[in-house]
Amino acid sequence: MRFRDTMNAICDMVPLEDAIERYTGHRIRNHRTNCPIHEGDGQNMRTDNNIFYCYVCHAHGNVVQFVQEYFRLDGWQALSKLNTDYDLGLFPHYYDEKAAKILRDSRARRLAEMSREEAIKHQIAALSSVYGAWCAWRRGAAEDMIKYRPKDPGGEIDERYAEAVKWWDYINYNMDELELEFFRLKGELRNGRKDAC
Ligand SMILES: [Zn+2]
Repeated sequence: MRFRDTMNAICDMVPLEDAIERYTGHRIRNHRTNCPIHEGDGQNMRTDNNIFYCYVCHAHGNVVQFVQEYFRLDGWQALSKLNTDYDLGLFPHYYDEKAAKILRDSRARRLAEMSREEAIKHQIAALSSVYGAWCAWRRGAAEDMIKYRPKDPGGEIDERYAEAVKWWDYINYNMDELELEFFRLKGELRNGRKDAC
């Protein structure tokens, strides 16, 4: 799985301002807040368009880079943390199980307050956005497997080719699982409607 694709997918799914508020406890008003990176007390950080920029310390970037800077993580750790904390289901959780549990519980509570039909529709929508990200990765991996395949047997293996091959089954397995879950939810929705008649 390529870092840049993964980062882009996560940036699409996690709003920067939401992540800043959640992780730092700062409130953002009119896309401005105190900079949590250098811990300044003026409203020095801009957060519009899913990008942050601090006029004092010049920290800047997207939501993944924010998590890297704020928690002092490397790139993959930051992706993993966002994946866990926002329950994106993109790859196995290993970073912060406790945060993931809190989020899962609050999501379960939210779902419990909805009607059955609403809850199922909500789950289907969440599933669709995750599925979209997997589609993008599968496409990227397929392209890499063609573009960077070894020119002759026993030839040198391109790192990008090796990476795509390594993830291929895993990506497909996860997409199959998502499809099964999708059909299960669709079925539940249909049965629910029949019961209501
Ligand atoms: Zn700053």
